[in-house]
Amino acid sequence: MRIVILGGSFGGLSVAYELRRHLSPERAEITLVAKDERFSFVPSFPWVAMGRRTLEQISFPLAAPLASRKVRFLNETVTGIDTDAKVVTTARREHPYDFLVIATGHRSANEAVPGLGPFDGPGHSPMSAPETIELAGAIRSLLSDPGPVVVGAAPGASCIGPVYELAFGLDHLLRQRKLRHQVPISVLTPEPSLGHMGMGGAGKIRQLLEAALEERDIAYRTSIAITKITREAVETEGLPPTPSVCSIVIPPLAGVEAVATSPGLSNPKGFIPVDARYRHQLADGVYAVGVAVALPPADETPVPVNFPKTGHMTEQMAEIAARDIAARIDGREGATAELSARCVLDMGDRGVYMAVDPVRPPRDKIPTVSEGRPWLLAKQAFERAYLATARRGRKVPTTIGW
Ligand SMILES: Cc1cc2nc3c(=O)[nH]c(=O)nc-3n(C[C@H](O)[C@H](O)[C@H](O)COP(=O)(O)OP(=O)(O)OC[C@H]3O[C@@H](n4cnc5c(N)ncnc54)[C@H](O)[C@@H]3O)c2cc1C
Repeated sequence: MRIVILGGSFGGLSVAYELRRHLSPERAEITLVAKDERFSFVPSFPWVAMGRRTLEQISFPLAAPLASRKVRFLNETVTGIDTDAKVVTTARREHPYDFLVIATGHRSANEAVPGLGPFDGPGHSPMSAPETIELAGAIRSLLSDPGPVVVGAAPGASCIGPVYELAFGLDHLLRQRKLRHQVPISVLTPEPSLGHMGMGGAGKIRQLLEAALEERDIAYRTSIAITKITREAVETEGLPPTPSVCSIVIPPLAGVEAVATSPGLSNPKGFIPVDARYRHQLADGVYAVGVAVALPPADETPVPVNFPKTGHMTEQMAEIAARDIAARIDGREGATAELSARCVLDMGDRGVYMAVDPVRPPRDKIPTVSEGRPWLLAKQAFERAYLATARRGRKVPTTIGW
């Protein structure tokens, strides 16, 4: 049996580790193909941007841990997928498969708003390692030449948590440097209320974020459609431009080009429609997990906000998909479950823990929202534990919060 996994981040790596728990090398030849040769702990990108971590500290090469699990690693870029012939094409060769798991994440759809960046316009965003390094440089420039800052998300964004982490992180850094009085910070979000995050909010998170932003003199506006980012300002629908010398704006996402351009694989945005076990709705033997998956918005909002796909959710999808593949090889069907989310938002000097189960409302359980310094320490400890475990070829249990 040939199983090919595309992507070496939370989705791809978790699928590989979980598959090997169920299928010995004699039963399945597993190949993981990724264009990046390192795994990066993406939730720590805001810390890299603030100069609190280096990329080296939050990443490791994929080859050795995968080899220890008898998974072949190929550092190649996928250019196309033929689901009829069951073949993946890379710049170097073709990879036939019996089962394929697509975990290629996102492409930043910077074309959605003029000026989104950093490589397409003057905006900044920590959506990938190179973009995070660029943002770290922009923040260093801000420290030497202070001016107003906008932190926000464009219409249709789905990854909203970092907006708050970057606003609080920047506020904290500027206070430490005694520069905060020279830097007005504004949060501009498409969310209808603070903390909506594309999942309809979570318990008392709105009240908590309002109080935390007001306490820190961070201005905020909700239901905002950013229309343009220039070197001096962020333009929005129906309001005068907000002055900004450093505009950190999270873009809407789309599927990566190889997926979006492969016939019959994805929706118009390049995301892959799947069933409850993360199987492709039409293509035989094809699964998708993580940000690559198409998930409909939780609700209709005046300015579009898309459903979140967090690292924790990605790992739950990976577990369900891998167990279903192993079960199908044995002629059975794997179990499925609704996605829950647990995460800690870094607020600079403390953290907020949020747990929602399920992610998509309505929910039987009241979401947990708790604030305090121990949560920030827990987030730092989780990062270290995750990297140490994954680097040893082991999967981190999804029962642990992020
Ligand atoms: C700034 C930021 C902070 C975040 N904070 C949190 C948090 O605190 N908690 C949380 O749970 N989630 C957080 N998230 C979300 C989390 O990082 C994502 O959910 C997670 O990274 C998704 O994993 P993935 O495997 O789907 O894809 P990705 O992480 O996007 O990885 C994609 C993989 O596919 C590979 N790839 C892409 N294209 C190709 C190709 N053509 N050929 C071969 N390989 C390819 C890449 O090399 C990479 O290995 C954050 C995200 C960001 C951007």
